[in-house]
Amino acid sequence: MDLGISGKRALVCASSKGLGRGCAFALAEAGVDLILNARGAEALEQTAQEIRDAHGVSVTTVAADITTDEGRAKVLEATGAVDILVNNAGGPPPGFWSDWERDDFIKALDANMLAPIALMKALLPGMIDKGWGRVVNITSASVRSPIAQLGLSNSARAGLTGYVAGTSRQVAKHGVTINNLLPGLHQTDRAVSLAQATADREGITLDEAAAARDAANPTGRIGTASEFGATCAFMCSVHAGFMVGQNVLLDGGAFNSTV
Ligand code: NAP
Repeated sequence: MDLGISGKRALVCASSKGLGRGCAFALAEAGVDLILNARGAEALEQTAQEIRDAHGVSVTTVAADITTDEGRAKVLEATGAVDILVNNAGGPPPGFWSDWERDDFIKALDANMLAPIALMKALLPGMIDKGWGRVVNITSASVRSPIAQLGLSNSARAGLTGYVAGTSRQVAKHGVTINNLLPGLHQTDRAVSLAQATADREGITLDEAAAARDAANPTGRIGTASEFGATCAFMCSVHAGFMVGQNVLLDGGAFNSTV
């Protein structure tokens, strides 16, 4: 399917690895020029070069922490106007409800709620002026079904979800859509570190923890970054103009419900 977005420009945050990288590759395959961001310059430049080699699109990199005002200012300076924004950042650490203090919540809110909101505030006006735009926020399956040890994530992402629910309906008449893409477990560094935490907690090996995790999913496996990226690219396509304020769950059927 031609996604109809060849020649458009996208900012993909936190995209040197994992799900952000999957989204960047899929958008590049659709002919989209990219601005990629992550904190570590080396992996970021390596991903950028792999994308240039594979798809021949223009890729600009900005090494910066997207969760800080200074980092975002650096990214936005290099970005200018874009047609597509994919919001992403690292997830907060796991823990226990009684351990989290105010500062832990502030960090989680900065990373997973206020950073994407600030980027939308900066970039939506340009999309509205052009009469076309797409925003996809990478959130988490924990928005639908809480993961108790990820309480910081559950809390911050619920805030972003509420913001998107209202704002998406305010900008839709300008041809701009905002939706959230909710990953269940996907094969990334983050998934490995979560499996390692399970292994340490339960006194089993990493392989055993990963096998139990895979068996618990209806598909018998976890998702891939390229499957995730392809879904994101569709949500950024010309065909998704009537998809507004949705929370698209990509979890292999792990969330057990009839509707
Ligand atoms: P990942 O494999 O650890 O990759 C994270 C990427 O984000 C890296 O490129 C990293 O590069 C970049 N990054 C992290 N913090 C950043 C920051 N402050 N500023 C700029 N870039 C930053 O993670 P992932 O699995 O793709 O997860 C992406 C998001 O989806 C996370 O919020 C995670 O909680 C959520 N999620 C993931 C899964 C899953 O199964 N993978 C499931 C549910 C939710 P640098 O470290 O160099 O900055």
